[in-house]
Amino acid sequence: MVMTQRIAVLGATGSIGDSTLAILAAQPQHYDVYALSGFRRLDKLFDLCQQFLPRRVNVPTAAVDEFAQRLSAAGLDIAVVGGAEGLVDIATDSQTDTVVAAIVGAAGLPSTLAAARAGKRILLANKEALVMAGQVMINAVKTHGATLLPLDSEHNAIFQCLPLAIQQDHTQIHQPDHGVRKLWLTASGGPFLQQSFEQMRQASVAEAVKHPNWSMGQKISVDSATMMNKGLELIEACHLFDLPEDKINVVIHPQSIIHSMVEYSDGSFLAQLGSPDMKTPIAHALSYPNRIDSGSQPLDLYALSGLEFIEPDLQKFACLRLARQAMQAGTQATIVLNAANEIAVAAFLSGQIRLTDIADVNEQALTEIQVPLLNEHADIDDILAIDKVARRHTDALIKKLASS
Ligand code: NAD
Ligand code: MG
Repeated sequence: MVMTQRIAVLGATGSIGDSTLAILAAQPQHYDVYALSGFRRLDKLFDLCQQFLPRRVNVPTAAVDEFAQRLSAAGLDIAVVGGAEGLVDIATDSQTDTVVAAIVGAAGLPSTLAAARAGKRILLANKEALVMAGQVMINAVKTHGATLLPLDSEHNAIFQCLPLAIQQDHTQIHQPDHGVRKLWLTASGGPFLQQSFEQMRQASVAEAVKHPNWSMGQKISVDSATMMNKGLELIEACHLFDLPEDKINVVIHPQSIIHSMVEYSDGSFLAQLGSPDMKTPIAHALSYPNRIDSGSQPLDLYALSGLEFIEPDLQKFACLRLARQAMQAGTQATIVLNAANEIAVAAFLSGQIRLTDIADVNEQALTEIQVPLLNEHADIDDILAIDKVARRHTDALIKKLASS
């Protein structure tokens, strides 16, 4: 008998949501789209409801009544739940087997953590959840027997290049017999790799979000332009693979063909290669430990003209340096960095600050904001309290900058 996995796609209207639903639509025998969530593009969410017929759907609280009426007028029997509590409700629903955590930013943390505490299989795209609450998340996964599979292409690549024993228990990475020496995160370098800092300073929003290889949501596209994305991914990797930041190197690989690597003590580097298409890591995690057709274009090796590797310039891409610094300082610092960055990216997208101001704002936030040290027993309330302070302080920093 074939078991169908019942899936909740949180952030269904976004870029990761699109890629996930494309796979689910092509594999109806394996997957049942049980629940969907959306935040702004509710027309798109409505279309997805018509296409996938989920049993539950989440929208912002203020939109619940209207959305429910719209569904019932269309003859669709779908229960609508509202707001952040509704997201948690769907993530912990006893009918949900797998939660695809594809909400962007800190907004994704409560539902992702709730899924871990409910022992779900979590397919994690929402890297900010680990940057803010890595230890709490990893502890919850262990305590409640949840499964955490990375969708981020780099982390998914590393996962695939690790032996089964480490895939099943990441603390095994410290066993000398496994011989793991380092992880190598690859980075495309973003749209400004070949441009000067001054050109980067003058960049418009349209230029900043135009990624050379990947098509993604706005926030992660800006993060890729500043390389904050790689900084967040460095922190994400530390938590996912239980390693300190100095065991994780970053290398720019402009072709985005190698998605990351594991270096072993015998000198072997194991890499995962593929077209830059999120459907590959998503399909891997959906079907793990089996494999399914992802619908992505196979790599045309004969057409590849060369793979380059470049050391990142930490002056031009200061956000990457800040991420290492924050990881060394501790969780309170990674929460501040994540919050400051979310506020700064939003300010850039709304035309208040320049692209290169983002790193300055993040650095100022890290040095100025006084927050308590968090130990490994910190809970979600401590984390959210620091997040709030950091957002308020960063708002003030931006106001000052925008008026100067
Ligand atoms: P996106 O902006 O395209 O989509 C974000 C989704 O989150 C949307 O469905 C939106 O409705 C929902 N959302 C936004 N704010 C919300 C809120 N306050 N409450 C509830 N829902 C909210 O973003 P994306 O590119 O799909 O990225 C999603 C996550 O996946 C991010 O954490 C990103 O870093 C990560 N990720 C994305 C890619 C990619 O290729 N797009 C690759 C790796 C990791
Ligand atoms: Mg990535």
